[in-house]
Amino acid sequence: MIEVASIKRGIVIDHITAGKGLLIFNKLNLASLGYPVVLLMNVPSGRMGKKDIIKIENFVDVDTAMLGLIDSSITVNVIESEHVTNKVRVSIPQDVKGLFTCSNPRCVTNTDSYVMPSFRLHDKKSCSYSCEYCEEITRVNLA
Ligand SMILES: [Zn+2]
Repeated sequence: MIEVASIKRGIVIDHITAGKGLLIFNKLNLASLGYPVVLLMNVPSGRMGKKDIIKIENFVDVDTAMLGLIDSSITVNVIESEHVTNKVRVSIPQDVKGLFTCSNPRCVTNTDSYVMPSFRLHDKKSCSYSCEYCEEITRVNLA
């Protein structure tokens, strides 16, 4: 087992489904942060068998709606003075703005770049959303 020092102050994205860590690393654009960041893959986990973990040694705004769309098993821990001061379980968001595009090519959000795509959860199981503008159902797959 690789030992990684615990961070003193920052964010730990834990319980990532094994194999999704790199996708999340890229979606959150962590390579461009300029802070120490580690991505741990295939870490043994009692609950999940294997998991990925991302540790960021600073406070950054983590988009929990996007994390919920990619992987709803994630927990985000905020660390201060080496202690967890806040723990957030992400979930599939009810309302989403911007993170993906409407599957209807004639939708105003696709034809007019000024209109931000906006969706409401339609079906949790299939992770599909209905467009606020044209009501088209879009299945989300950020992987
Ligand atoms: Zn639409």
